[in-house]
Amino acid sequence: MLDLEPARIKLIMELRRQGVSNRAVLTAIERTPREIFMPEALRERSYENIALPIGRGQTISQPYIVGFMSQELKLNKRIVVLEIGTGSGYQAAVLAQLCRRVYTIERHRSLLQKAETCFEELGLHTISTRLGDGYKGWPEQAPFQRILVTAAASEPPPLLLEQLAVGGFMLIPVGPTWDTQNIVRITRSESGYDSQELLPVRFVPMVHGIAVDSPPAPQR
Ligand code: SAH
Repeated sequence: MLDLEPARIKLIMELRRQGVSNRAVLTAIERTPREIFMPEALRERSYENIALPIGRGQTISQPYIVGFMSQELKLNKRIVVLEIGTGSGYQAAVLAQLCRRVYTIERHRSLLQKAETCFEELGLHTISTRLGDGYKGWPEQAPFQRILVTAAASEPPPLLLEQLAVGGFMLIPVGPTWDTQNIVRITRSESGYDSQELLPVRFVPMVHGIAVDSPPAPQR
């Protein structure tokens, strides 16, 4: 049987060295089995500190980036988070342990369904999911104290800026497609928006509209 425990311990130590120091964040990562969110063929690589493919041309985020963003979000159990780009669901699962509720939007139906199965399996009942276009946000639940975008945009989507609460902030990778972007923190105040670059990164691009997923291969 696959014993991932040594790799898991090693990863947590590496995240600490890389500057993920918040105890609650480290505990949440420690308690979230990344292998559940991985495609079967890649399970043994679950605790490598890299992004890995999950199908539909998308990736599960690198654990360091999940740690970094979760820490930068400065969460507590009163805060509600909107995440754009559910992907595997791994980031949402970590966030769910750090805040009151997570609303997460994904444009690929097949990825969203897999993520939902993982949330069920782990008993994470404070995650609400939606198949939709993240550019539009989740207006019925706005405003949000925190918005986390896990796909790169050329600029912050206006509707997401609108759905940010005054005093709240958004983390979003901003920059060119398939090149280095920057995680930017955009804080909303009474008088407007203020942004600050935090970390160079590479994310898959944010894409408009709901994806038309090709159907699964027919059964023989
Ligand atoms: N948070 C994810 C990382 C997913 S990668 C994880 O932990 O695994 C980025 C995801 O954003 C992809 O699944 C992609 O399909 C999704 N995405 C891209 N543009 C989007 C949009 N406009 N609305 C919703 N999801 C989007």
